[in-house]
Amino acid sequence: MPLLKIVNCTDSILRKKCLKVENIDETLVKLTDNMIETMYAASGLGLAANQVGVSSNLFVIDVGIEKEKRDPVIIINPVITASEELVMAEEGCLSIPEVFAEINRFQHVEIKGYDLKGDALRYEAEGFLARAFQHEMDHLKGILFWDNLSKVKRSIMQRKFKKKLKELVA
Ligand SMILES: [Zn+2]
Repeated sequence: MPLLKIVNCTDSILRKKCLKVENIDETLVKLTDNMIETMYAASGLGLAANQVGVSSNLFVIDVGIEKEKRDPVIIINPVITASEELVMAEEGCLSIPEVFAEINRFQHVEIKGYDLKGDALRYEAEGFLARAFQHEMDHLKGILFWDNLSKVKRSIMQRKFKKKLKELVA
């Protein structure tokens, strides 16, 4: 299966709200297969469709994080239906390589969506997995993790990233 190119935060597709998935067809199934492959190849635990240049409202995530066993799932048209207890913890993003920041997220969330068969699914998550769900949900809305920081902190992060980007291109 071909690996997909993960776009970085300079790409405007990451700033657009993803479009609702209306049809689950062969193309979508192939896309999600490749996204899972790409996520693991990049040592990520979650990947939103717009991160591979497709503005569709879905993401893939490894819900086996805590069990240290791979358990990739695809969540189509997800919504967070419950959340509680804000906590700060470090976070990174495959579209902003090598930049990490402490971000406030809910410790517990409930998420609902659909699988590839069009059947409803629901997950309750806490800790790191809950954080990953919120991070991917933000991507689908065109939000990047550093948007949750103060303006000053964000501009420091952005400068760090620009420096990194130059090193990566050089
Ligand atoms: Zn991300």
